[in-house]
Amino acid sequence: MRQHYIAGNWKMNKTKGEAVELARGLVAALKGGKNKYMIAPPFTALDAVSQVVRGSNIRLGAQNMSTDESGAHTGEVSALMLKDLGVQTVILGHSERRHIYKEDDAAVNKKVRLALKHGFEVILCVGELLAEREAGKAEAVCEAQTRKGLEGVAEAELKNVVIAYEPVWAIGTGKTATPEDAEAIHKFTRGIVASLYGKQAADSIIIQYGGSMKAENAAALLAQNDIDGGLIGGAALKADTFVPICSA
Ligand code: PEP
Repeated sequence: MRQHYIAGNWKMNKTKGEAVELARGLVAALKGGKNKYMIAPPFTALDAVSQVVRGSNIRLGAQNMSTDESGAHTGEVSALMLKDLGVQTVILGHSERRHIYKEDDAAVNKKVRLALKHGFEVILCVGELLAEREAGKAEAVCEAQTRKGLEGVAEAELKNVVIAYEPVWAIGTGKTATPEDAEAIHKFTRGIVASLYGKQAADSIIIQYGGSMKAENAAALLAQNDIDGGLIGGAALKADTFVPICSA
């Protein structure tokens, strides 16, 4: 049985003080919780939040990472810089990175391989646009993003990979995929992993759902066989809305 993994992506929200306050509340509320947890504050709060979550059952995540190790990349943050702050997990290929900042599959794959090389856990986000779903292309988009994202990733590294299925039309919109629709893509994606790495690897990989997950819909989504957790945006910004998902 795969452990449920609930992760919070705080996006471009929270000053350092606000981030520390929320992290302190979560450390207290999730102590002894039976699932796996991660929070990804903005870069500017990573150092401060790192001190708060150290020694707790909450992993520290970053929302992005540079494709390159160092050098002339103005505005970028490297793997070593993140490691230095105690970051354990990096979210890569988030739809906001893909669609607003035009990150393509090659860039996402470069980041995935670099992050794994540096020993991070990677959450690889995949998901279709509304127009792609309406055109019957949801599976094809998720398959391409999964295959390209994992290109060059060795079987031994897969234990550090989590996939997050995030239909873009459900992110921050209040629209959630039905548990059955989400389950269909999760099952399909697990099949892709099986075709690449075999059944055992596919059975073990964590596949999170993301897209307007909240306390009211989390239990039904998490009850699906192939939905192993959630990547939460809006509802991760307050302990009152995040903690109930963590215990759903
Ligand atoms: C996300 O951006 O990863 C996300 C799932 O956001 P929200 O929960 O707000 O839809």
